[in-house]
Amino acid sequence: MSEPSHARLSPSGADRWSVCFGSVVLEASQPDNSNEHSDWGTACHAVSAMCLTEKTDALAYLGRRIDVAPHRTVECDREMCETAQTYVDYIREASTGAQLLVEQRLDISHVVPECFGTSDAVIIRDDELHIADLKGGRGVQVFASYAVDPSDPNSPRKPNKQMALYALGALRAFEILGDFKRVRMTISQPRLNHLDEWDCSVEDLLATGEELRQAAERAYAYVDSTTTLVESDLVPGDKQCKFCKAKATCPGLARRVQDEVGSDFDNIATFAQSDEQKAMSLKAYTPKTAEALSKAMKAIDLIESWCKSVRGAVEIELLAGREVPGYKLVQGRKGARSWNSEHEAETVLKAMRLKVEEMYQFKLITPPAAEKLKKAGRLGDRQWAKLQPMIGQSEGGKSVAPASDPRDAIVISPPADDFSDETNAAATAPTGEEFA
Ligand code: SF4
Repeated sequence: MSEPSHARLSPSGADRWSVCFGSVVLEASQPDNSNEHSDWGTACHAVSAMCLTEKTDALAYLGRRIDVAPHRTVECDREMCETAQTYVDYIREASTGAQLLVEQRLDISHVVPECFGTSDAVIIRDDELHIADLKGGRGVQVFASYAVDPSDPNSPRKPNKQMALYALGALRAFEILGDFKRVRMTISQPRLNHLDEWDCSVEDLLATGEELRQAAERAYAYVDSTTTLVESDLVPGDKQCKFCKAKATCPGLARRVQDEVGSDFDNIATFAQSDEQKAMSLKAYTPKTAEALSKAMKAIDLIESWCKSVRGAVEIELLAGREVPGYKLVQGRKGARSWNSEHEAETVLKAMRLKVEEMYQFKLITPPAAEKLKKAGRLGDRQWAKLQPMIGQSEGGKSVAPASDPRDAIVISPPADDFSDETNAAATAPTGEEFA
């Protein structure tokens, strides 16, 4: 989805401005941060839209240069074809027998002043309105809904704010086409092999719309205005700061990082004890340490994101030839060696009479490559069925996620209690408060 540049309170920025009203002021002075990644995403959206409107497959655009901005084009590469095709296949299946509208420009100004946007796909089926959004990135996984309290596995969920705004625009635009009862929202993020759906009643969507309308009213007070920025209107947090262009220079975020790091030094002190002290007090500390870890963990994303943005801002200054006291630009490590011209190197190596197996590295194709041959019709259904039992897949590594993450928790039994024979030692060990 994309929005016209003049949408000051844009749907894609709703996670930010609906919580941090003051970000409107700080972001307004920041330069446009489109880069090769966002250009690639824009081109991928264009290829997907052409596939759906011209009833073609993405490979038809391989190698074509796609306009992404005046005087800026991006070549449609193989990965773009695969990304677009995965999304297109989903949309074709989801819209079978329904009405499909591609790249629909939507007026959302009845919720957010001046707000417009373009929905990747709107699917109308009986009393259901379905909005789908292609995400071309592979950095941050995007979900169609979010947990109101991320630390609570049973937390109620609400629709993704960007998707909710598009759904509200579509509801208004197409209300004459049906008596809609439910709204479905889908995020397709093929480069992360991720597809997420969420559906809710029209009443729930309208309730979210009312919350967004009230937030927009407060944020809009700062648009093109001389209103003095109220400090409490800078509200740092993981979601709102993640893509904020003002992150590196925002005083509100800097203050929050300072507060978090400062308060956590107390907790870090707990880990700085001798092994003996730790062993003696492990039992007494466990609950307190877990809470401290939880609190520190909650602050990590925000602090990391701030560090990254400050690092980026320093790099921009130095690359622009401006001084940042105490820092300089240096040349990084050299990249891997490669032939300047593979063709020339191949000719010379052949003249050296090397054997074929010495000159070339042959590798068996991978299961995903075999699947592509199946999709391209080079392998039939029966041949593919014969290959499938031969495909293995290692389990993903374990990673930490918030309690509200939709994946099942891995249950691990704690190790046997090493201190069961040390009741007396534990009883006489100093209490947690003494070490704190
Ligand atoms: S960095 Fe965070 S706190 Fe600062 S303006 Fe942006 S969203 Fe608000």
